[in-house]
Amino acid sequence: MTAAPLPEPIPTGSSGDGWQYCAQGHKHWGLYGAAGLLVRSGDLVLLQHRALWSHHGGTWGIPGGARHYGESAESAARREAAEESELDTGPLVETARFVDDHGGWSYTTVVVCAAAALPVAIRGGESVEFSWFPAASLGTPEGPQLHPGFAASWPRVSTL
Ligand SMILES: [Zn+2]
Repeated sequence: MTAAPLPEPIPTGSSGDGWQYCAQGHKHWGLYGAAGLLVRSGDLVLLQHRALWSHHGGTWGIPGGARHYGESAESAARREAAEESELDTGPLVETARFVDDHGGWSYTTVVVCAAAALPVAIRGGESVEFSWFPAASLGTPEGPQLHPGFAASWPRVSTL
Protein backbone atom coordinates (compact mmCIF):
# COMPACT_ATOMS: atom_id res chain seq x y z
CA MET A 1 0.00 0.00 0.00
CA THR A 2 1.25 3.41 -0.83
CA ALA A 3 0.05 6.49 0.95
CA ALA A 4 -1.89 8.97 -1.09
CA PRO A 5 0.30 11.91 -2.05
CA LEU A 6 -0.17 14.96 0.10
CA PRO A 7 -1.76 17.90 -1.67
CA GLU A 8 0.69 20.57 -2.75
CA PRO A 9 0.83 23.31 -0.10
CA ILE A 10 -0.53 26.65 -1.25
CA PRO A 11 2.22 29.28 -1.19
CA THR A 12 1.45 32.18 1.14
CA GLY A 13 0.49 35.23 -0.88
CA SER A 14 -1.10 33.28 -3.72
CA SER A 15 -3.83 35.20 -5.48
CA GLY A 16 -7.31 34.69 -4.11
CA ASP A 17 -8.92 35.70 -7.38
CA GLY A 18 -11.74 33.27 -8.06
CA TRP A 19 -15.23 32.36 -7.00
CA GLN A 20 -15.99 30.54 -3.79
CA TYR A 21 -19.18 29.03 -2.44
CA CYS A 22 -20.03 29.72 1.19
CA ALA A 23 -21.90 27.39 3.55
CA GLN A 24 -25.09 29.29 2.75
CA GLY A 25 -24.80 28.41 -0.93
CA HIS A 26 -23.92 31.87 -2.24
CA LYS A 27 -21.19 32.37 -4.80
CA HIS A 28 -18.68 34.99 -3.65
CA TRP A 29 -15.57 36.59 -5.13
CA GLY A 30 -12.43 35.62 -3.25
CA LEU A 31 -11.11 32.09 -2.68
CA TYR A 32 -9.93 33.00 0.84
CA GLY A 33 -12.56 35.58 1.66
CA ALA A 34 -12.58 39.26 0.88
CA ALA A 35 -12.00 42.52 2.70
CA GLY A 36 -12.77 46.18 2.19
CA LEU A 37 -11.61 49.47 3.67
CA LEU A 38 -14.22 51.84 5.09
CA VAL A 39 -12.60 55.25 5.56
CA ARG A 40 -14.35 57.71 7.84
CA SER A 41 -13.45 61.31 8.58
CA GLY A 42 -15.74 63.01 11.05
CA ASP A 43 -19.27 62.62 9.68
CA LEU A 44 -18.02 61.72 6.19
CA VAL A 45 -17.46 58.35 4.52
CA LEU A 46 -15.20 57.73 1.51
CA LEU A 47 -16.92 55.76 -1.24
CA GLN A 48 -15.75 54.33 -4.54
CA HIS A 49 -17.88 54.79 -7.65
CA ARG A 50 -17.40 51.44 -9.32
CA ALA A 51 -16.56 51.16 -13.00
CA LEU A 52 -19.51 50.26 -15.22
CA TRP A 53 -17.92 46.99 -16.39
CA SER A 54 -17.44 45.71 -12.83
CA HIS A 55 -19.85 43.60 -10.79
CA HIS A 56 -22.76 45.92 -9.88
CA GLY A 57 -21.00 48.59 -11.93
CA GLY A 58 -22.07 52.18 -11.43
CA THR A 59 -22.92 51.71 -7.78
CA TRP A 60 -21.01 53.14 -4.83
CA GLY A 61 -19.16 50.94 -2.37
CA ILE A 62 -15.88 50.68 -0.53
CA PRO A 63 -12.57 49.69 -2.09
CA GLY A 64 -11.82 46.05 -1.48
CA GLY A 65 -11.42 42.64 -2.99
CA ALA A 66 -10.17 39.10 -2.63
CA ARG A 67 -7.69 38.27 0.12
CA HIS A 68 -4.49 36.51 -0.85
CA TYR A 69 -3.81 33.14 0.75
CA GLY A 70 -2.54 33.78 4.28
CA GLU A 71 -3.15 37.53 4.04
CA SER A 72 -4.80 39.28 6.99
CA ALA A 73 -8.04 41.09 6.38
CA GLU A 74 -6.47 44.40 7.34
CA SER A 75 -3.56 43.94 4.94
CA ALA A 76 -5.92 42.97 2.15
CA ALA A 77 -8.21 45.95 2.75
CA ARG A 78 -5.29 48.40 2.75
CA ARG A 79 -3.71 46.77 -0.30
CA GLU A 80 -6.92 46.85 -2.30
CA ALA A 81 -7.55 50.49 -1.40
CA ALA A 82 -4.02 51.37 -2.49
CA GLU A 83 -4.48 49.49 -5.77
CA GLU A 84 -7.73 51.29 -6.57
CA SER A 85 -6.93 54.80 -5.36
CA GLU A 86 -4.13 57.22 -4.55
CA LEU A 87 -5.21 57.15 -0.91
CA ASP A 88 -2.26 57.04 1.47
CA THR A 89 -3.42 54.24 3.75
CA GLY A 90 -0.34 54.37 6.00
CA PRO A 91 -1.58 57.01 8.48
CA LEU A 92 -5.11 55.60 8.67
CA VAL A 93 -5.81 54.13 12.11
CA GLU A 94 -8.14 51.16 12.41
CA THR A 95 -11.04 51.94 14.72
CA ALA A 96 -13.30 48.91 14.21
CA ARG A 97 -13.92 45.91 12.04
CA PHE A 98 -16.93 43.91 11.05
CA VAL A 99 -16.73 40.30 9.90
CA ASP A 100 -19.65 39.04 7.87
CA ASP A 101 -18.97 35.30 8.19
CA HIS A 102 -21.03 33.09 5.89
CA GLY A 103 -19.20 29.88 6.82
CA GLY A 104 -16.33 29.00 4.50
CA TRP A 105 -16.27 32.54 3.24
CA SER A 106 -16.28 35.91 4.96
CA TYR A 107 -16.15 39.59 4.13
CA THR A 108 -14.26 41.76 6.60
CA THR A 109 -14.94 45.48 6.66
CA VAL A 110 -11.96 47.28 8.18
CA VAL A 111 -13.02 50.69 9.49
CA VAL A 112 -10.29 53.32 9.60
CA CYS A 113 -10.20 56.98 10.53
CA ALA A 114 -8.70 59.71 8.33
CA ALA A 115 -7.59 63.00 9.87
CA ALA A 116 -9.08 64.99 6.97
CA ALA A 117 -11.46 64.31 4.08
CA LEU A 118 -8.97 65.15 1.35
CA PRO A 119 -9.75 64.50 -2.34
CA VAL A 120 -8.78 60.99 -3.43
CA ALA A 121 -7.78 60.26 -7.02
CA ILE A 122 -8.48 56.93 -8.66
CA ARG A 123 -5.83 54.39 -9.62
CA GLY A 124 -6.34 51.47 -11.98
CA GLY A 125 -9.48 50.75 -13.92
CA GLU A 126 -11.94 49.59 -11.28
CA SER A 127 -13.18 53.03 -10.26
CA VAL A 128 -14.81 56.05 -11.85
CA GLU A 129 -14.18 58.30 -8.88
CA PHE A 130 -13.83 58.46 -5.13
CA SER A 131 -15.98 60.87 -3.17
CA TRP A 132 -16.88 61.70 0.42
CA PHE A 133 -20.50 61.45 1.52
CA PRO A 134 -22.24 62.35 4.77
CA ALA A 135 -22.67 59.08 6.65
CA ALA A 136 -26.29 59.99 7.38
CA SER A 137 -27.08 60.12 3.64
CA LEU A 138 -26.10 56.50 2.99
CA GLY A 139 -29.06 54.21 2.51
CA THR A 140 -31.48 57.10 2.00
CA PRO A 141 -33.20 57.96 -1.30
CA GLU A 142 -31.17 61.19 -1.46
CA GLY A 143 -27.89 59.35 -0.95
CA PRO A 144 -25.70 57.55 -3.49
CA GLN A 145 -26.89 54.29 -5.03
CA LEU A 146 -25.02 51.71 -2.97
CA HIS A 147 -23.50 48.41 -4.02
CA PRO A 148 -25.92 45.77 -2.66
CA GLY A 149 -23.28 44.07 -0.52
CA PHE A 150 -22.22 47.33 1.06
CA ALA A 151 -25.83 48.43 1.46
CA ALA A 152 -26.57 45.23 3.37
CA SER A 153 -23.66 45.68 5.78
CA TRP A 154 -23.92 49.45 6.23
CA PRO A 155 -26.64 49.48 8.93
CA ARG A 156 -24.41 47.30 11.12
CA VAL A 157 -21.08 48.84 10.14
CA SER A 158 -22.30 52.41 10.57
CA THR A 159 -22.85 51.93 14.30
CA LEU A 160 -19.36 50.60 15.04
ZN1 LIG B 1 -22.52 33.69 1.46
